[in-house]
Amino acid sequence: MDGYAVRINKNFIEKIEKEERLLEQYPSDEKINANGQILMPGLICAHTHFYGVFSRGMAIHGEAPANFLEILKKLWWPLDQSLHEEDVYYSAMVCLIDAIKHGTTTVFDHHASPNFIDGSLDVIENAVRKSGLRASLCYEVTDRGGTEKADAGIRENLRMIQKLGGKNEDRMVTASFGLHAGVTLSDKTLEKCAEVIPEGHGFHIHVAEDKIDQKESEKRYDVNVVARLNQFKITGDNSIFVHGVHLSDDEIDTIHQTGTWLTHQPRSNMNNAVGMANVEKMVQRGIPICMGNDGFSFSMWDEWRTCYLAHKMWNQDPRRMGADQVVDIAAYNNARMATKFFNGKIGVIQEGALADLILVDYIPITSIHADNLPWHIIFGFRDSMVTMTMVNGKVLMRDRKLTEINEHEVCEGAQRSSAAVWERYKKQF
Ligand SMILES: [Zn+2]
Repeated sequence: MDGYAVRINKNFIEKIEKEERLLEQYPSDEKINANGQILMPGLICAHTHFYGVFSRGMAIHGEAPANFLEILKKLWWPLDQSLHEEDVYYSAMVCLIDAIKHGTTTVFDHHASPNFIDGSLDVIENAVRKSGLRASLCYEVTDRGGTEKADAGIRENLRMIQKLGGKNEDRMVTASFGLHAGVTLSDKTLEKCAEVIPEGHGFHIHVAEDKIDQKESEKRYDVNVVARLNQFKITGDNSIFVHGVHLSDDEIDTIHQTGTWLTHQPRSNMNNAVGMANVEKMVQRGIPICMGNDGFSFSMWDEWRTCYLAHKMWNQDPRRMGADQVVDIAAYNNARMATKFFNGKIGVIQEGALADLILVDYIPITSIHADNLPWHIIFGFRDSMVTMTMVNGKVLMRDRKLTEINEHEVCEGAQRSSAAVWERYKKQF
């Protein structure tokens, strides 16, 4: 909307009006001149893993992994076992910086560091608060390290949920209950988690990412993944299912009926060669599909673009996944999910919404309006066009320069800490 301005009062959008009227009413307010740039809601990442970032450039031990289980066994599990306190902090910080630079203002993290469980979420919380971003945190409970570690994971989730429970008035950091995936969780552990989770909270879990999740569920428990999770009440509108690449119609129905959120991460699915979730079918069924990055870069428009392209390729049909559908998922549904989980209006430019805003330096070469904006984003927007990132009314990047964090200092720390992680990784083979 040309000629309009937005007034921020503390951390929320108080007024949207014609620029001259606002200037008249509030002449002494600090002003940020958009200079013709596009003002947009900050981007949201509905599923990520900060801890995975030190895998960048790391040589995977031995022969290249040939399937998803091998990727877990050769890369992610030995990597997460190599993480100590300092590594958890720096991996979070570099991701948070990446998010600010690319206009991503709210993130949902899923953390694992089996040799540093107790207090790991405090370390991430500290990084998040330092960065000024909004984040949902959880610890990944799994049986792969034995009962003691599974119990420690449960305790860590509970501790964080209780710690933030009464203190989330600022709506900056929130917690859910993290679970790895059905394939590494026994019935006993699932039962325990379902028993102890406080009322009003939900789970954040990988679901049917690879065929193996379904195969093992059928073989060991004689039931499909979603039915099994539903037995333990892991479903529901406070819970986030991640991926859902291999789901039957019955499972899709259950996800819909229980109001469970499901996140889509096409870059990750392509990278792991696990297949492509039938997102359009699930959207049609009424499931609120959201979009995450699963540890890929926080340039979320890259994820949007991948989504737009991947479904066409996968289905060999250029009519699949229009840009408008991508925007419904990645912008509108992500905004709905963030709004629910942080209990404050997020991801929209409306009076009363929290002030998470970005400026995009995009000069259109063709006509641009609300109806064709999704195609301008897919084909024209680059993440480097984000020049200003504001979260909760606070400017975290101005004219492409971070205002709160010294990036060089963090990167130096990350270099040091990641070198130690790589050493520990190698020693496991
Ligand atoms: Zn994931």
